[in-house]
Amino acid sequence: MPKPFPWMSEELAALESAGLRRGRREIQPLAGGACEIDGRRLWNFTSNDYLGLAGDPRVVAAAQTALAESGVGARASALVAGRTEWHARLEQALARFEGQESAILFPTGYAANVGTIAALVDENDVAFCDRLNHASLIDGCRLSGAKLRVFRHSELETLERELHKAADSRRRLIVTDAVFSMDGDIAPLRELCDLAARFEADVLVDEAHGTGVFGEHGRGVCEQLGVEDRVAVRVGTLSKAIGTLGGFVAGPQSLIDWLWNKARPQVFSTALPPAICAAATAAIEIVRTEPERRTKLWQNCEFVAGTLRVPSVFSSDTQVVAGQSSSDGTRSVPATIGPIIPILLGDPEAAVVAQRKLEEHGCLVAAIRPPTVPLGTSRLRISLSAAHDESALKQLVAALQEVLSVP
Ligand SMILES: *Cc1c(COP(=O)(O)O)cnc(C)c1O
Repeated sequence: MPKPFPWMSEELAALESAGLRRGRREIQPLAGGACEIDGRRLWNFTSNDYLGLAGDPRVVAAAQTALAESGVGARASALVAGRTEWHARLEQALARFEGQESAILFPTGYAANVGTIAALVDENDVAFCDRLNHASLIDGCRLSGAKLRVFRHSELETLERELHKAADSRRRLIVTDAVFSMDGDIAPLRELCDLAARFEADVLVDEAHGTGVFGEHGRGVCEQLGVEDRVAVRVGTLSKAIGTLGGFVAGPQSLIDWLWNKARPQVFSTALPPAICAAATAAIEIVRTEPERRTKLWQNCEFVAGTLRVPSVFSSDTQVVAGQSSSDGTRSVPATIGPIIPILLGDPEAAVVAQRKLEEHGCLVAAIRPPTVPLGTSRLRISLSAAHDESALKQLVAALQEVLSVP
């Protein structure tokens, strides 16, 4: 029998020689922000479990209760017969948490972005995307059929020009990450809302890394920057600080009703497992009632940022939102304080080598390569959690100083 897709092995070899072939390993999560990998215990600085809720006993217990009562799978899409009381409770909890009328669930954050954007704009419209937006936002814009205008990261003048040119289109949608997932900086949401108001556009914000982390009550960067009532659509995920799985949109009843009718990844996918909904509801309650977790996370961010001194921490495409950059072009970490800390290395092989060496020093850190980041901006990406204690953080800083040979 002929081998199918004979071109694949060649293309995979090309990826390999460019240092871009993706491998996979097994990882066993452990308590306290640690993990076991290849039989070794490491501190885990790759996780999006910012508040340490993925393994919280109360979250696990909530899932177990629902598992015992409702089984594993949802058996049908939410509109047909898959929406159980666990789903309804989670929708209510999300609406209440976000201070909105209603909420709708999606199988993942990816599906939430793709489905929501494609339900809002089409060929008659223009979507404006920051170049560093998450793939799911870009894919949603592409799928929608709207004209796509990509502007350089946080370059508001370019966006303004493009908005001006699109004045005759039916609708204009500005699409942005709240926290840019590979750079850790936050979007200039106030300025984006100002531009949207001037050009009669709407703003859609993806709070994937914002929910539970930013804002006094953990509602994200929109809360932190005071633009919650100026942003037309806020999309979130339950898979990061909430520690579970699933995407959501919380908003006015009319928007949520529209998405129930028009968001295809929601309409044509099986509903989330009831146990996941129960777990997410418990996790949201913890986010709401235990702000000290957020405080601990931010203390950890400040500790690492204040201790670490490595050059070129941020990619050149990254806007500095706080702090100073030095005149020689190198930036020390305090430029952007947050749980995502990128260390720019440029070359994909260099990122992989640095990752391996850090593992030898007991720390699991992500090597991020194209196409996840633009060519020439391969990097280490550190992500911090409230679950890390001081010994984890000290080991991380020592390992980085050793491996990246900085003073
Ligand atoms: C992780 C992520 C998503 C996707 O969320 P999932 O729930 O994992 O599918 C969407 N947007 C951004 C910015 C993300 O970082």
